[in-house]
Amino acid sequence: MGHEDCIFCKIVSGDIPSAKVYEDDYVYAFLDISQVTKGHTLIIPKTHTKNIYETPVDTASEFFARVPKVANAIKATYNPIGMNLLNNNEKPADQSVFHLHIHLIPRYGDSDGFSTNWKTHTEEYTNEDLQKIAKEINSSI
Ligand code: 5GP
Ligand code: ZN
Repeated sequence: MGHEDCIFCKIVSGDIPSAKVYEDDYVYAFLDISQVTKGHTLIIPKTHTKNIYETPVDTASEFFARVPKVANAIKATYNPIGMNLLNNNEKPADQSVFHLHIHLIPRYGDSDGFSTNWKTHTEEYTNEDLQKIAKEINSSI
């Protein structure tokens, strides 16, 4: 099941040490070495899959089903004022480890180490534009 040269597969197998938060048959959760905020955790499926695009539905359902459990454990432990979940796919979107993972980043305040920068373009799209875009994406499903 382990993927050669994948550091997260090596973390699952114990070949690379990690600070394990949770483990069961399907997922492994451990502290991100960068600790953007205290308790910053990564949850990964034990089965190697590169990113969201290549993830089979069975792997996805077992994986995503366990995310709330870990999120709630972090919340119960450190009582953050919020939490951001982040999943990067492909290099231009900041994926640096090519084994699917979700970052759980508990939030403690404005300057806690994490921030999001969202530019809204609401005024640039009519309702018709939105309907057209939605249809275009839907036609690829
Ligand atoms: P990405 O940039 O792919 O979304 O996130 C990869 C994350 O993995 C980074 O936040 C990085 O700090 C973390 N990471 C990389 N190598 C290791 C490691 O060996 N151990 C742990 N615990 N985290 C790692
Ligand atoms: Zn892997």
